[in-house]
Formats: sequence, C-alpha cells, structure tokens
Amino acid sequence: MIENRNFYIDGKWVAPSKSNDYEVINPSNEEVCAIISLGSQADTDAAVAAAKRAFNDWADVPKAEKLALLEKLLTIYNRRAEEMAQAMSLEMGAPIDLSRVQQTGAGSWHLEGFINAFKDFEFERPLGAHAPNEIIRMEPIGVAALITPWNWPMNQIVLKAVPAFATGCTMVLKPSEIAPLSGLLFAEFIDEAGFAAGVFNLVNGDGTGVGSQLSAHPDVDMVSFTGSSRAGIAISKAAADTLKRVSLELGGKGANIIFADAGEKAVKRGAQRCFRNTGQSCNAPTRMLVERSIYDKAVEIAAEAANATRVGPASQEGDHIGPVVSQLQYDKIQGLIEVGINEGARLVAGGLGRPEGLNRGYYVRPTVFADVRNDMAIAQQEIFGPVLSIIPFDSEADAIAITNDTPYGLTNYIQTNDDARRARMARSLRSGMVETNGVGFAQGSPFGGYKQSGNGREGGVFGLHEFLEIKAMSGLAPE
Ligand code: NAD
Repeated sequence: MIENRNFYIDGKWVAPSKSNDYEVINPSNEEVCAIISLGSQADTDAAVAAAKRAFNDWADVPKAEKLALLEKLLTIYNRRAEEMAQAMSLEMGAPIDLSRVQQTGAGSWHLEGFINAFKDFEFERPLGAHAPNEIIRMEPIGVAALITPWNWPMNQIVLKAVPAFATGCTMVLKPSEIAPLSGLLFAEFIDEAGFAAGVFNLVNGDGTGVGSQLSAHPDVDMVSFTGSSRAGIAISKAAADTLKRVSLELGGKGANIIFADAGEKAVKRGAQRCFRNTGQSCNAPTRMLVERSIYDKAVEIAAEAANATRVGPASQEGDHIGPVVSQLQYDKIQGLIEVGINEGARLVAGGLGRPEGLNRGYYVRPTVFADVRNDMAIAQQEIFGPVLSIIPFDSEADAIAITNDTPYGLTNYIQTNDDARRARMARSLRSGMVETNGVGFAQGSPFGGYKQSGNGREGGVFGLHEFLEIKAMSGLAPE
C-alpha cells in the first residue's frame, strides 16, 4: 500500500496542516491502493504564497536557463517513464500497455512539443512595419492554478505545467484526488530537475476544498482547468469575484461522420476509437453518423467490434480495455445505458452489468446502440464510458446539422475519400478540431473546443499564449 500524505510546497515535501486522509481506489479490483491527504485552506494559502514569492525571480530567468531545465525534466521523465506508467495504470485503470505507450507517451510528446515551440517563441516584437517603435511584449500572467482530471492524468498535467514554466508563471497544481499518484510522481521529477523553490507547488485535495479555494484565491491570477462542464461552471463563478482568467477544457460528444465510400474499415476503426481508454476521453467519437446506404452493415460491424473488444485488469499486458475509474462513473454509465434502452434505442452489443467473468472492479461491457436519434440523452450527454451511439444520415447537410446539434464542440471526425467533400464538411463543423480519415494531429497542434467544450487551447505555441499577458509599449526601439 502506498502512503504519500505530503504536499510539495516551496521546494519541499511538507505534511498537511491538518490530517485528512483519503483512500485511492484501484478500479481494477475496488481495493484501496494508496492513502493521500486532502489539503485545507492553510495548505492552499501556503502553496499560493510560495508561488507568489517565487514569481518575480522566475519570470526574469533567461530563456536559455528555462529551456535547459525543461530539457532536464524531459530526460528525467523519459528515464522514469515506467514508474509513471505503473502509477497511472494503478490509479485510473489504464491497461499497462496503453499506460506505457499512450498515457505516459502523451506527457513526453507534449513536453517535446512545448520545448520546440518555446525555442522559437518571440516574447517581444514590433507591432508592424507601420509602427516599428511600438513594441508588443508577452509577459507571464503570474500565479496559475492548474486543476486536472483523472482520465489522461499526465497528458493534462504536462499540457498545463510546462507552458506555465516556459512563459515564466509560477503554479499550484491540484491533480484529481481520484488519480493523484502520477501528479505526486511528476512533482518528484520537478524536484529532481532543480526548479527554484516555489515555482511549482502541489497540493492534493477535492473540488469543493482545494479546488474552490484556488479558484477563488485573490493571489491566483489564472485557473487552467480540465474536467467536467459542471466543475468548469463552478470554477468560473468562483473566479469571477477576482476577475481571474479561466481557461477551460471541458467535455465533448464527438460525431464521426462515415460516408459510404469510406468503407467498413472506417466503421471498425471508429468503434475501437470510441472504446479506447474505456471511453474516458473528452475527444472520443461517441456518436457515429453513418450514410444510410451502408447503415445496416455498419451497425453489424460496430457490434462485432464491441464484441471483439476484450475487457480486463489494468495490470495485464495486451490491447484489452480496463475498468472505468470509479464506482461513481460505473453507476453513471449504467444509468445512461438504461436511459438509452428506455428511450427506444436498439441495443446491438453490450448492455447493463459487468462483462462475463468479471465480478469485482468497475468493468463495463463495450456497448453499441443503433437507431439513435440525436435528441436522445445518449446522443446529447457525455457518457464517459465505452458506449457508442449510431445515427443514420441521408445527406451532407443532414450530417452537418446532426453533428452541430449539441452543446459541445470539441472534436469531430469525417471519413470519406472525396477530397472536396471532406474539405467542405471540415469547414462547416462547429468544433475546435476536425480529424479526417484517421490522420492524427501533429505535435504543437491546438487542442480545445467551441461552445460548452470550453474556451482554452492547449499545446505548442497556442498553449504558451494561454499563460501570457500582452503588453504594448510605445516610443521604444526593438532590442
Ligand atoms: P470533475 O470535473 O469533477 O473533476 C476534475 C477536476 O476538477 C478534479 O481535480 C476535481 O477535484 C476538480 N473539481 C471538481 N469540482 C470542482 C470545483 N467545484 N472547483 C474546483 N475544482 C473542482 O470530473 P469528474 O467528477 O472526475 O468526472 C465527471 C465527468 O466529467 C465525467 O463523467 C466526464 O463527463 C467529465 N470529464 C471530462 C474530462 C475532460 O477531459 N474533458 C475529464 C474528466 C471528466
């Protein structure tokens, strides 16, 4: 059993101001796997004060020195990658191979992406040829609170902490209390890299405690948050009294539009993508929109893909999917599967209860609903489990209307070999990202959403801008 009750404040591991133990549950077997502490106001205050004290000096550290520290952090991250993979696999149930390659890999990939973006980033430049003596300067916003979720723990922490470092911000990280072990390990990496005391601080806690204390704190200049829309709204309200900047990465209900010419492979790939990470990704393609001429065949293929998806414990090697993260998420998913059945959607694979042979652990059956209408709850709400909803469409206009008819706007997907149609459609979808024909996004690409999927952009140059103020200075010669 892991016991790690301390917080990382002002360059030291410190005991919480008062004892408040919290049990971390291994979702693969429902047993307690670690004990951490939940912080209180005094811990939050101490961490914010340390970050505030460290700010002026860190902001002034030359770019080359910051870069060297980030490169050192990358080396440490890569050297200790196996520890990180094990931590995430244990705390949130990602099967170990997925945890090694995708969960841990996402952290190093974004770290590299930020290092490259930072190298070329100009913090000062003239406004333009018409105003060569007006200088536009980018400056760090100040103390940033980073509040992260459990579904892609290191992906989210790196996407926030690394641009904060690079731009000269200081920070307080509050990882998800459900999956805090990876965040604690990341703090060890920071300590080993030798960042100055107070630049990075970590306080564990829950949303109503440390989360809302950080959001309302007068000495926090910005909150960068990833998680549910519910918490995003609560944070925005708590931050409003001090008018701090709030950058939000929230949920999604991505449509995957499959035209007849894309073939059966696109259907299989789409279903597998929906089930990846046990459906716990905000950018998962959870609504499959299929052109009517191949609809029946597509339903059959998606059901086969679900039935072929193996489910098992996170510690086991292989390409199976793991459990969902918690009892709460398990119950929420079961509730929505029930709603889907009651709404009259046709259940063609999976359904209620655990997969056969798995009686302990938060395991969900990979589930496919056909004949879903876009106004059903299972087409509108983020289920955050391995549940796919299939909807037929008749024309391009029909597919665009269904796709955009959602409060979310994170990632949508298009599958067709018709280049002109793909380009036309991609421009018509109201989302921050449109992935076409399975071509992945490059390093440094902006990740973020429209509408209730949030307002932030993470990754590369776009991610650096999130943590910067813009200053205009007149009557100065460029340096
Ligand atoms: P959550 O939003 O409650 O938790 C995410 C983080 O926010 C955690 O660190 C949590 O402690 C913190 N938090 C919660 N309430 C807060 C508050 N009032 N003030 C400040 N911080 C707060 O997410 P969850 O309960 O773990 O998951 C619930 C749902 O959220 C999921 O079913 C899914 O739909 C969605 N979700 C989305 C993402 C995403 O990447 N967009 C990630 C996780 C969860």
